[in-house]
Amino acid sequence: MSIYLDNAATTPLCPEAKDAMIAALELYGNPSSTHSEGRKAKALVERVRKDIAAALNCLPAEVIFTSGGTEADNWALQSSVDVLGAIKLYHSELEHHAVTHMVEALAHHIEAVAIPFDAYGDHDLDWLEAQLAADRQAGRKPLVSLMHANNEIGNLADLDRLSKITRDHGALLHSDTVQTMAHLKLDFAATPLEFAACSAHKFHGPKGIGFAYIKQGTGVQPFIRGGAQERGHRAGTENVVGIAGLGAAFATAMAKLDEDAAHMTDVKTYAIERLRAAFPHVRFNGRSGDLNRSLFTVLNFYVPELHEGGMLNFQLDLQGFCVSGGSACSSGAVGGSHVLGGLKSPGGTRISFSRMTTRADIDAFVHALQSLPKLD
Ligand code: PLP
Repeated sequence: MSIYLDNAATTPLCPEAKDAMIAALELYGNPSSTHSEGRKAKALVERVRKDIAAALNCLPAEVIFTSGGTEADNWALQSSVDVLGAIKLYHSELEHHAVTHMVEALAHHIEAVAIPFDAYGDHDLDWLEAQLAADRQAGRKPLVSLMHANNEIGNLADLDRLSKITRDHGALLHSDTVQTMAHLKLDFAATPLEFAACSAHKFHGPKGIGFAYIKQGTGVQPFIRGGAQERGHRAGTENVVGIAGLGAAFATAMAKLDEDAAHMTDVKTYAIERLRAAFPHVRFNGRSGDLNRSLFTVLNFYVPELHEGGMLNFQLDLQGFCVSGGSACSSGAVGGSHVLGGLKSPGGTRISFSRMTTRADIDAFVHALQSLPKLD
């Protein structure tokens, strides 16, 4: 039996999503067909869209189903440059690769400017605001892309302030909300932005399905071309079973939002206390050790006597603990985590929580760490 502490990489499917997906397997009609079987499938897709839009305080037409977070992030960046004419892009080197690699691909068309950050991974929004003011003076309409919660260190960006300064200076805003969607209450009427991203498998939904939020009137072109699905915004027959799972996982997460937040806050607080007691030299990467400035799902720690050999995550895996040395997308990559590298941290282990994680899991984890051979 393994103990799963890698929920920022992905979460187990919840029973509600599984049941909804099994039921949706019967809906074999193509949602684009006008006959009764097609209409049944279409009704499910539109109901999920409507429910998600109601929870986010946006219009159903602003929710466009995609294959997940990567597609939504790629689409926002590409469209801003190709269609909306953003020639300057403010971004962060601490973003997920779904953003950083797209920025690299676009960098030869545009001016890509990295937003400065400090040793904790906090970005300098005063600097950004001054740049945006200068851009407005010069008649430029840039795009700002800054993630809401960092998947490796949990740092939370001040989305309200980002929304305000981009509105004040006529800039576009994309936020990769993959780690916060269905974990925090998001209200896109109160906190307007042009683009956001969702991935169902981060909140107990299925993999390979998510959505892009695109504010009405933004005027993007389809990223995938073909049929007229998704009101002409995203071609391809809809992933009806995936959308059913996404809808059920999203509805469950919204219904349990406060309860889950309190539970994960307790588990994370307990993990911080237990690690501090067991390893007085422990350090927490980024803001992950500060519950007020990081998401309750993520804790990234470094213990010199455990990490220096570079084998910790491997040793933990052998003992049945699923953890990560960074984001799942980069953990196998040569050179390790670009986020920890950016923070000049010597390394770290990310443990990440879900509503299914218990204090007993943390006890077992800290006990396993204490039992590992240490470097002298
Ligand atoms: N953005 C962030 C912050 C993520 O954590 C992930 C997943 O690891 C993604 C984007 C990519 O999402 P998906 O796996 O749905 O493509």
